Amino acid sequence: MVRSDLPIHPARMSLAEIETTWGGDGDPPLPECTYDPELHTGPRALIETSAEHAAREAVAREVCATCPASEVCAQYARKVRPTFGIWAGLTAAEIDTYAQMVELSEAMRARAARHLPGLEVA
Ligand code: SF4
Repeated sequence: MVRSDLPIHPARMSLAEIETTWGGDGDPPLPECTYDPELHTGPRALIETSAEHAAREAVAREVCATCPASEVCAQYARKVRPTFGIWAGLTAAEIDTYAQMVELSEAMRARAARHLPGLEVA
């Protein structure tokens, strides 16, 4: 059974879903992972050994490294907090850590702006 509350990985999005989710003013960049979805999401059946899993994810990260959609994918992943797969070169756990660091950084920047008016925070 497919859970409807899970975010859709870009590899499994239709063109219409990509346009809806990532569409801005122009055509959204197309994900490289759509050519081989299981590389990024894993096989439908749990048939991977841990070595196969690690090797598959390493290749998926390489695909992400050259994907024209990586920036928008990273923003999307940070927003939806996935629980599986490789997104913008990161695992779900890495995305969660990254999102927490960004949130902390933004909170610290806002606090500094409140308490230290006039200070330029890069
Ligand atoms: S960055 Fe990776 S996961 Fe994201 S759309 Fe591109 S290939 Fe897919």
